[in-house]
Amino acid sequence: MGNLIQLSLSDFLQRQGCPYCNSQDNRLLYPVVSKNFYSTPQGKIVLNKTIQHKRQLVKCLACGLIYHQLIPRKETMKKLYQNSSVLEKWDWDPLTRGFQSKFGFMLNINGKVQTLDIGCHTGGFLSLLPKKWEKHGIDFNAVSLNEAQKRIPEGIFQLGNVEDVDLSPNYFNIITMWDIAEHLYNVQSTFRKVCTSMAPGGYLILETGNWESLSARIFGRSWYYTNLLEHFVFFEPSTIQLILEENGLVVQQIRPTIHHRNKDKTWHRRLKSLLYIIASARGTVISPWLKTAEFFKKSGSPPNPVMYDHMFVVAKKVI
Ligand SMILES: [Zn+2]
Repeated sequence: MGNLIQLSLSDFLQRQGCPYCNSQDNRLLYPVVSKNFYSTPQGKIVLNKTIQHKRQLVKCLACGLIYHQLIPRKETMKKLYQNSSVLEKWDWDPLTRGFQSKFGFMLNINGKVQTLDIGCHTGGFLSLLPKKWEKHGIDFNAVSLNEAQKRIPEGIFQLGNVEDVDLSPNYFNIITMWDIAEHLYNVQSTFRKVCTSMAPGGYLILETGNWESLSARIFGRSWYYTNLLEHFVFFEPSTIQLILEENGLVVQQIRPTIHHRNKDKTWHRRLKSLLYIIASARGTVISPWLKTAEFFKKSGSPPNPVMYDHMFVVAKKVI
């Protein structure tokens, strides 16, 4: 099984309030389902009982954002994820991600286009864009960013978290955030910065999990998405709409979409998910499942059902 990494409480950050509106008024949803271990590029993580107990999911009563109260610090994330093994794993596949159906309408924009992909990884998405577009990318993984620069020599790349880098105001015509919003530490300052950096008439295109999706509701606390160590915040269509509108954007569409990864063995995964829901009573009784997983040396994680539990969002800056 390789080395197991034991994280201590000091590797985590305890949130004091809502990462969007700062309100401390929240409702406890539930402690997230724990599992035997979490896979990260640096190895398998084991969480002790105290940490497991403190990993509570709450809903902000002021703005509706759902968030983890205990999340790994940025330094912890860096330590666990700065590794070349992530290179292939998270590549941007135009087929499984529906490039044409989601992004096709953008390709007809005339004139100079300045585009930014936040969390650009190895530049997979940027490399699909028209040659003449000015391409910018941000990523916190130096290994991935190095690949991106090789792939797109004319591209302009910044190393860091989107929350920590500087962005020129009123500059970008298109900003994309593919599976990034759920990783944010500070939702408010990030969206403010991102929306400020958009040129008037510019588009923000993002994809993230949908808390209101049918599968998220069916799975309840066993929805795999909230259980991942690197996912900190969760949105409903109404929350994302509120946040974007408060930052001067008009939401043009929010539609359900399927997560791009794990499209192989789809029926196998769905069957396993069904089994998980039944065996664990939607994640409320997990010890028999974990014991069985332990016996087979598996993580015991809630399976990803590969269903329409994500949303694709397009918003436009009007002024
Ligand atoms: Zn809030």
